[in-house]
Amino acid sequence: MISDRIKKLSPYKTETAQAKIRLSSNELPLHLPEDVRIRIAQEVSKIPINKYPDPNASELKEVLSEHLKVKEENIVLGNGSDELIYYLSVAVGEPNRGVFYPVPTFPMYEISAKVFGRERVEVPLDENMDIDLPLSLNAIKTHSPVLAFISYPNNPTGMCFTQSKIESIRQEGLFTVIDEAYFHFSKKTFLEDAIKREDTVVLRTLSKIGMAGLRVGILIAKEEIAYEINKMRLPFNITYPSQVIARLMLTEFYPLIEESINTVIKERDRLFGELSQMEGIEVFPSDANFILFRSNFPAERLYKELLVRGVLVRNVSYLPRLERCLRVSVGLPQENDAFLEALEDSLKSFT
Ligand code: PMP
Repeated sequence: MISDRIKKLSPYKTETAQAKIRLSSNELPLHLPEDVRIRIAQEVSKIPINKYPDPNASELKEVLSEHLKVKEENIVLGNGSDELIYYLSVAVGEPNRGVFYPVPTFPMYEISAKVFGRERVEVPLDENMDIDLPLSLNAIKTHSPVLAFISYPNNPTGMCFTQSKIESIRQEGLFTVIDEAYFHFSKKTFLEDAIKREDTVVLRTLSKIGMAGLRVGILIAKEEIAYEINKMRLPFNITYPSQVIARLMLTEFYPLIEESINTVIKERDRLFGELSQMEGIEVFPSDANFILFRSNFPAERLYKELLVRGVLVRNVSYLPRLERCLRVSVGLPQENDAFLEALEDSLKSFT
């Protein structure tokens, strides 16, 4: 018998529409030259696929600990940070205590709270897309949640919340998860807090730096906290190919990733500038690899107009505070040009 809790869930929404230019999932546009692909294929061909992978992904963890400048004991790996969000939603506090997060935000916080039957304490953002502190503190007093998820920068709005507001929430005694999925584009972090404090952990992922297909999420915490979370980790949750390819990408081929990140940051600023100049478009500043913008027209129709012109973006207009808003991932310069052209052309179709 399936529980009502699960029956009431809707499946995680992914963008399935076909389009020549896909700017809907915040992936990094990473082009791998032929020789790099061959080298990866050679390494993958050596994997004994009848054997289980290293349950601790030790070699990958070693590389990650160098990248992050933390000890291997500070790290727990997940099959994407999605899996780590599930773990935290079970591990922190007792099931009768709720989970706090500002909305709109990354939908997995809501989904995992629903899956595990925990109360959801959702507080709408203020008009600057920042945390509404008075409302949040009030909700925390009323509902006493034990866990807070903070997307930093926030998806889908793009900005990092004010640090002192996060601090005020943490001071209410909530175990605080700082989800830094887009860290490489913001360069703002709570990593030092995470390795020092028992009430803070940081989530990172390889998904936004060119390896979404590998499904590797990273939790960074004080050793004692990491030790506890690691006990509930599913055995062998990082596949053999993921361990091998991620290690290679983070060492030998990391310059390719860095180059792409730098291009995206430059392109984000260019895109922001171009969108700000467009009549009838309101654009929100972004610390991430995507940009939120609002038009004067119904978002569903604008989304379709863009799609007809071969550009897929994300329609987020159904979310609280995001009336008539769309979200576009920053792509390669030519993809961004195509998006801007399609947008100008689409806007004309409304007049
Ligand atoms: N956190 C945030 C804020 C995200 O936007 C995403 C991906 N869209 C994730 C976590 C999930 O990342 P992963 O691919 O590592 O599961």
